[in-house]
Amino acid sequence: MKSPSRLLNILAVSLILLAPSALTAKEPAPTIAVPAVTATEALARLKAGNTRFASGDLTLPRQGVERREALAAGQRPFAVVLACADSRTPPEVLFDQGLGDLFVVRVAGNVINDEAIGSIEYAVDHLGAQLVVVLGHDRCGAVTAARDTFAAKAKAPGHIQSIVNAIRPAVKSTLGENADATIRANERNVTQALRSSAPILKEKVKAGKLTVVPANYDLKSGRVEFLEPAK
Ligand SMILES: [Zn+2]
Repeated sequence: MKSPSRLLNILAVSLILLAPSALTAKEPAPTIAVPAVTATEALARLKAGNTRFASGDLTLPRQGVERREALAAGQRPFAVVLACADSRTPPEVLFDQGLGDLFVVRVAGNVINDEAIGSIEYAVDHLGAQLVVVLGHDRCGAVTAARDTFAAKAKAPGHIQSIVNAIRPAVKSTLGENADATIRANERNVTQALRSSAPILKEKVKAGKLTVVPANYDLKSGRVEFLEPAK
């Protein structure tokens, strides 16, 4: 026979497990005991990692068996990176980060659609990331295609046209300027679109719980330039 106090304990635990908040929880909290990383700290980590990469001093951190096994229980990436799908711009490499560090969304031209925004919302709202970097790069084929297609008043083949359409505002706002200007305009446009994306990202930005920054990667030097100071 269990003692009354033991029964009460069991009852209390049962009630906690059955509480509405537990039933409606979006996802169990990450089980990795890592405190949330502020945007300022996240940015500092990325800058330090890129400095290592650009100078040829990669440390390939947190990529071993121990890290892999620890992460099986859950993830808590400290930053989101929306990057171009270009094979020369993998964020984990050029920021010298490891497994579980970055939540990466990649699409040619680093543009956004609902699925990309949903992925970013998930990383921010469920996983606790407080920094989103919109990472474009010089000599971006997607941006070049968008410029050429617009200039020729043509259409790109297949679904490539949807990427061209997404980059078009940057093309239009930089007519008469070079491709670098279009690339940067696109990075800034996407950044602004994410900052004002209702309801999740916009509210987080307004509450000071999310920072979105545009950045540009130089293929040759390996350096990432952040286009504006973090707010
Ligand atoms: Zn690209």
